[in-house]
Amino acid sequence: MDYIFGPVQSRRLGRSLGIDLFPKKICNLDCVYCEVGPTVSPVNRRAAYSPVRLICGEIDGWCADPERVAAVDVFTVTAKGEPTLHSGLGDILRHLKDTVDKPVAVLTNGTTLTDEGVRQALMAADIVVPSLDAARPESFVRVDRPAEGLDPAAIIDGLALFSRTFPGRIWLEILLVRDMNDAPEDIAALVTALGRMRLDRIQLNTVVRPPAEARACPLSREQLTAIAGQLHRELGLPVDLPFAAADTPAAETVPVAAADSALPAAIRDDILHMVQRRPCTAVDIDRTFHLGGPEKVVQLLDPLIRAGILHRQAHGGTWYYQQAS
Ligand code: SF4
Repeated sequence: MDYIFGPVQSRRLGRSLGIDLFPKKICNLDCVYCEVGPTVSPVNRRAAYSPVRLICGEIDGWCADPERVAAVDVFTVTAKGEPTLHSGLGDILRHLKDTVDKPVAVLTNGTTLTDEGVRQALMAADIVVPSLDAARPESFVRVDRPAEGLDPAAIIDGLALFSRTFPGRIWLEILLVRDMNDAPEDIAALVTALGRMRLDRIQLNTVVRPPAEARACPLSREQLTAIAGQLHRELGLPVDLPFAAADTPAAETVPVAAADSALPAAIRDDILHMVQRRPCTAVDIDRTFHLGGPEKVVQLLDPLIRAGILHRQAHGGTWYYQQAS
């Protein structure tokens, strides 16, 4: 499968089947915290970057097994980059809705909601999860490093307009990076911007997984909790934080060398697809593939590290697996 990955256990969405629209990273931002890696050359043009026919064909093939479909909570359209840059997004979403009786979610950085065509395409989704990291231009540039011509004021207008016409749920994500977009005036500007939108909830996040730039540092739990409280008080919305109890990395033991193991080829390929999109912990991988616990995952993946297929990196006291470059 080139476009479908998972199902993965998502904290936000439940058991989610991912549809990744791009074979390589295509984005109009180059966020300092990006988990996919740097954007080599930011592009802000919508185009058919991959054939809609092939993506829909994979969806049909995967959904031919009703038992597999029944075990999924949500179908999530995403990308190594920004999925709304795909000009076939609307066709893909409509195809999904015609094929499965499940909610369809789209993850987007929100920048293209200035475009009427994108707003219309997203109408076919049930849940849209847009991002807005900064409402002040200087903070937006510092954190998201946009392609030329992207203006946060226009993006906020686009988000506000979309939020008033979209009939589904909108969960807006804010990712805060220490000393880049977390000043009191940044939060005040975000409150003003979000106050213009009809949102269902806010997902407040910080740098958790290995970022594109080592200088992108997380806020402390205390800072994040205080800002969540402010957003909740001033906007009257539920605010989710990234550190649910289930995420406590207690089981993220320092990997030890292990005996060679036999990971079935199909599961190995699925794990490689999963870590291609974002760095994953042994807990993440075990939650999705049920391999017998995080320690067992460490053992099973050890031969892939030694073979140079996977790379393992410590970040914030936790070990993450990535595809070796
Ligand atoms: S975090 Fe998302 S929007 Fe930012 S550069 Fe990475 S893929 Fe693009």
